[in-house]
Amino acid sequence: MNDPGHALITITQRPDTVFSHGQGAWLTDESGKRHLDLVQGWAVNSLGHSPALITQALLAQSQRLLNPSPAYYNRPLLDLAGRLVELSCFDRVFLASSGAEANEAAVKLARRWGSRRRGGAHEIIGFEQAFHGRTLAMMSASGKPGWGEIYAPMPTGFTKARLNDIASVERAMTLHTAAVMIELVQGEAGVVVADPGFARELRALTAERGVLLIADEVQTGIGRCGHAFAYEHFGIEPDVMTLAKGLGGGVPLAALLCKEEFNCFAPGDQGGTFCGNPLMAAVGLAVVNEVCREDFLAGVRERAAQLSAGLQAIARDHGLVGERGLGLLRALVLPTNVAAEVVAAAQALEPVGLLLNAPRPHLIRLMPALNISPAEMDEGLALLRRALGDVLR
Ligand SMILES: *Cc1c(COP(=O)(O)O)cnc(C)c1O
Repeated sequence: MNDPGHALITITQRPDTVFSHGQGAWLTDESGKRHLDLVQGWAVNSLGHSPALITQALLAQSQRLLNPSPAYYNRPLLDLAGRLVELSCFDRVFLASSGAEANEAAVKLARRWGSRRRGGAHEIIGFEQAFHGRTLAMMSASGKPGWGEIYAPMPTGFTKARLNDIASVERAMTLHTAAVMIELVQGEAGVVVADPGFARELRALTAERGVLLIADEVQTGIGRCGHAFAYEHFGIEPDVMTLAKGLGGGVPLAALLCKEEFNCFAPGDQGGTFCGNPLMAAVGLAVVNEVCREDFLAGVRERAAQLSAGLQAIARDHGLVGERGLGLLRALVLPTNVAAEVVAAAQALEPVGLLLNAPRPHLIRLMPALNISPAEMDEGLALLRRALGDVLR
């Protein structure tokens, strides 16, 4: 038995394949086999694998300045923060390295604000099935079944409501509620899109009760859903937002954004060694400048329509339940729990494989590069058809 991961602490089941290089929509393994990649690092590689734009940003910035320390300003940090403020409804930005870290910062900000302005309000209402990351507090904030127990005792002060059920949010609210934290499209839960009417009711309810609305856009932000930020689709403005995944286009970069009135950290309340380092910020700026152009976003919406139509046709032909999603974050719903088999069959296709993700036993999630070409999208759909045919036959 030659297990390539024998020296690693086991955290997940991985196929034996070792990937060696990628370009655009394609990922090549050490045997030389090519795979069309519709996972893209879990919606991380907004511009596909190894885009020239990121290579250039990394090279230029690494020759200029790697890390002056978070105690000093650097130009990419200031420019990326300024650009995010220009593009969004927010006024202030804190940069971090992962989605969980940005979400922790959002919860800290909400609790700081609660302690200063709301008489010690500190509770955070989240949603069943939600995913906010893997730190202890974010496991408490998430609504994944079982996550309250495996590392007990867990940080407290997190309660749960049900998505698209405004009465459940009202019931969860107390005098101690500081914030409601929501994924407008629940990614890990299986691409469950919030109802726009619910999103507007939630915005009105939180405003009326003086409770912060935090949008976790770690997966949905930076073009993924066809807009710079998914909240635009829902016609609401959150008070606080977090970004990660697509923001760095493949490098570790995250952000917390807030409106001026919630900009309430005192010096020393929040920070981190790599927060705002110029190397990652320079990449983020290059990604944001490319992805958040209106013509680029229009292209994302066109590819999303193509993917949605293709998935609907597949669902029809195979008698499946259907597809759902927003922009280029979509899921195909299978009639039985065969998603893992479909993922394996897709990767095993010859001569080229297809990389898919199964966030739930009956669900295939598709998160292609935002700049995937129409021909590559058609090829991906054709490969998916073949893999489904092999499994469902
Ligand atoms: C991936 C994800 C996170 C966690 O991000 P990490 O970078 O893995 O810490 C948080 N929230 C959402 C919605 C995510 O999809």
